[in-house]
Amino acid sequence: MNSPNPQDSADSAVICSAKGCRAAAVWVLAWNNPKLHTPDRRKTWLACEEHREHLSQFLGVRGFLKDVVTLAEWEASAAGR
Ligand SMILES: [Zn+2]
Repeated sequence: MNSPNPQDSADSAVICSAKGCRAAAVWVLAWNNPKLHTPDRRKTWLACEEHREHLSQFLGVRGFLKDVVTLAEWEASAAGR
């Protein structure tokens, strides 16, 4: 599958994962490919308002999409607060 910008580390600039998009990300799409990942593994894509729908659908039709949360929510839960 064709992955957009590889951007798994949280410390890089928070930019939308859609191809060619440089907008600030607002959403986190958590996904898992059962053929590649163990069930509890979560890959993440970042999305701006404009691309949330597009990226969600891309993952959704493949059955990969697990969760869509705001970036603020994601960071709060990642920090264990
Ligand atoms: Zn975007």
